[in-house]
Amino acid sequence: AHLDQIAAVDTDLHAFLHVSADAALATAADVDARRAAGDALGPLAGVPIAIKDVLATQDMPTTSGSKILEGWIPPYDATVVARLRNADLIPLGKTNMDEFAMGSSTEHSAYGVTRNPWDRDRIPGGSGGGSAAAVSAFEAPLALGSDTGGSIRQPAAVTGSVGVKPTYGGVSRYGAIALASSLDQVGPVSRTVYDSALLHDVIGGHDPLDSTSLTDSWPSMAAAARAGLADGALKGVKVGVVKELNGEGFQAGVKQRFNETLALLSAAGAEITEVSAPNFEYAVAAYYLILPAEASSNLARFDSVRFGIRVDPADGPMTSERVMAATRDVGFGPEVKRRIILGTYALSAGYYDAYYGSAQKVRTLIQRDFAAAFSQVDVLISPSAPTTAFKFGEKREDPMAMYLNDVTTIPANLAGIPGMSLPIGLAPEDGLPVGLQIMAPAREDARLYTIGAAIE
Ligand code: GLN
Repeated sequence: AHLDQIAAVDTDLHAFLHVSADAALATAADVDARRAAGDALGPLAGVPIAIKDVLATQDMPTTSGSKILEGWIPPYDATVVARLRNADLIPLGKTNMDEFAMGSSTEHSAYGVTRNPWDRDRIPGGSGGGSAAAVSAFEAPLALGSDTGGSIRQPAAVTGSVGVKPTYGGVSRYGAIALASSLDQVGPVSRTVYDSALLHDVIGGHDPLDSTSLTDSWPSMAAAARAGLADGALKGVKVGVVKELNGEGFQAGVKQRFNETLALLSAAGAEITEVSAPNFEYAVAAYYLILPAEASSNLARFDSVRFGIRVDPADGPMTSERVMAATRDVGFGPEVKRRIILGTYALSAGYYDAYYGSAQKVRTLIQRDFAAAFSQVDVLISPSAPTTAFKFGEKREDPMAMYLNDVTTIPANLAGIPGMSLPIGLAPEDGLPVGLQIMAPAREDARLYTIGAAIE
């Protein structure tokens, strides 16, 4: 049924870069046979799933939305993909994304845009617009995303889906093509909080192949979500509203739905207080120094030799440097080039302290803001994004406007804490989905599922 839906709508939506129909049907038949034979199968066995193209898959091309990796098939699966297969989920294909996960609209994909199923003239969010659109358009019940500054939560918000960025280190990054290694996290996208929780249980937990993977033993996220369905689950829960993430520049309908949610929370017995995080004001600026710095280092591996395409210079000597330059000129898109230049500049001798060093200090201040806030409240909430889905072209040529759209989601990445976006209705002025963001202290992902399920 999902393959039929893909065939029916994806020519127009373009959520997928690659669909593996035959392999999916073969896996499904195998799962059916094992179920019929009485094998004990996991709770998500036989459930189809879409995989963001940032994740290595040994049976499908993996491009990270970039021309430079066109046609590349990795020799191994990302750990999260291996865990899907072990749990008998059925990979349907790879989803579209901004090139190397740089963007908030999927307009920076080298393979064309993905359309928002709610309004095909609008962006599905980014960088994981393909995963969110696939889930929202019923092409897949579940998807995997990656979130470095909001790429799971913001696409979920603008497509009416649920998306979760786990605690940094809670889900393996092995085989996730690195954007900014101190910020990247892999996580679930789904239509309900409970579905994300089930998927989180499959992909989460320690991985010796990822040096930043936490060794904690985690509670069941599915059990945490079920606890949220009990009567009175919100009673006495201390909810902090982040003052800095709900003011100027936020669309009226987004604020309206957010305020209605506050009223509902209050009626359900939650204690709502306003919390100030004064350094969040600098989060976008700090992020857009730290991210390009780390990205410029990570992308150095795309050297025209080890992965993907090679383009020889049209004339002149065939030195390795000139082959690399010609390949990168063709292989990298404008946003990727912009960030490499920003990052190498911020890291260069003479500027390192002024830019990268200052940004790291701001990061510490933001972590302290969170620590102070969480000493008063159980969770923090805000709108997931300042606006509903914007129109194609509205911000594409204006990097600053695109970057500022991430104001709500970036702080959680800088602090390594978990965040969830879940739908809270449609904005009256445009009829488009609005998302609520919930953030919890590091390692308290289960709390997000309990409270998220209760709100949903
Ligand atoms: N929009 C943010 C950026 O462009 C977030 C990207 C992400 O989370 N991968 O960097």
